[in-house]
Amino acid sequence: MKTFILILLGTAFLLPAHAQDAVIRAGTVIDTRDGSTSSDQKITVRDGRIESIEEWTGEMNNGVIDLSDSFVMPGLFDAHSHMALVVDPRKDGGNYFFTGILNTTAYRAVQGVANARNMLLSGFTTIRDIGNSGNYADVALKQGIDEGLVPGPHMETSGRIIAPFGGQFHLQPEKRGIANPEYFFADGVDEIRKAVRENLHFGATFIKLVIDDQRYIYSVEEIRAAVEEAERAGTYVAAHCWTEQGARNAIAAGVRSIEHGLAMPDDVLRAAKDAGVFLVGTEFTVAGLGWQTGVDISALEEEHNQFVDRLRRAYAMGVKIVYGSDTVFLDPDMSRAHLSLDVLNSWREAGVSNADQLKAMTVTAAALMGVSGDRGLLAAGFKADIVAMKSNPLEDTNALYDIDFVMKDGRVVRHPGTH
Ligand SMILES: [Zn+2]
Repeated sequence: MKTFILILLGTAFLLPAHAQDAVIRAGTVIDTRDGSTSSDQKITVRDGRIESIEEWTGEMNNGVIDLSDSFVMPGLFDAHSHMALVVDPRKDGGNYFFTGILNTTAYRAVQGVANARNMLLSGFTTIRDIGNSGNYADVALKQGIDEGLVPGPHMETSGRIIAPFGGQFHLQPEKRGIANPEYFFADGVDEIRKAVRENLHFGATFIKLVIDDQRYIYSVEEIRAAVEEAERAGTYVAAHCWTEQGARNAIAAGVRSIEHGLAMPDDVLRAAKDAGVFLVGTEFTVAGLGWQTGVDISALEEEHNQFVDRLRRAYAMGVKIVYGSDTVFLDPDMSRAHLSLDVLNSWREAGVSNADQLKAMTVTAAALMGVSGDRGLLAAGFKADIVAMKSNPLEDTNALYDIDFVMKDGRVVRHPGTH
């Protein structure tokens, strides 16, 4: 299996005898809780976890991974990703309706393999895949990664998106089944409970609801039914909210995260903060919205500005903000991971500090996903998900584009000088 992965990655490096044991000499280690740093550290990895981090002592030898000229931090999280959705704007500008119809689940799983590999090699060691995967391509991808068949980040999966009739599409009555399986229509408390149970049965690790993409939106009572079912199974609900009323209903019902949250006046942000709701804001840049052909540029600018304004207010208020890219489109000149980093341009514009950007991409994301204590921090006992780069992301998070070392679960998947 090791040989297989080496060939697959196309990289030339030697795995140590125990692939999940290693000693790293780190030039600067970043604590992403507060942006503090320590220099010349020794990170000892055993059985896939960090055993200790201490001041460097000892001899440099061939067995030591030399990152003494690098900035070292926990692997990145993307809390809003769609590995099995690739929209080619040249073929399907404006929406992903045709993509969902034309691409089989099998093909989308293959696309997911390519995206997951790219994300991992670019430094994303954990992702939350938030639906639009056909008939559970996300679950199949996660299974393949967990079994070591293909390289990819640790994944949480939402399975099929549960939504009021129509989902995020506009159907016509003779083709009402066409949004199936992309969306799981459920209306009313009973249908929602059943949809949640079925989704969990088929491999969702959390539940994604689209609250408000139709004129009729989920009520507090309906959302609460999903929250209760999810919680009984030990998980939670992430709620796509585009409208103000959608966000109000979702917060009142007890969801764990608001996705997008475009229209959130201060009192709604305050309610989110008071309830401990995470905001995965997916603050698109104009370029990030521009794949939608046929949309007026001024409308895109207005939407982008609305996102930046909402992020600025949420950040000032102390809402738990989490990085999520929502990247779905294909750009022949950019990898999926690098397209995903584009959201940080909006974060800079909103005045989010470099240290707080890194926090939102690690520790806060880990808290949202319920993996605090396991991932998202470089500390003894944590999974050895470690990335490194030559320039300092605390001075400029554009450094993340040049991550050149990636370790996941104690295994080196990328060494400096490889791709
Ligand atoms: Zn999305």
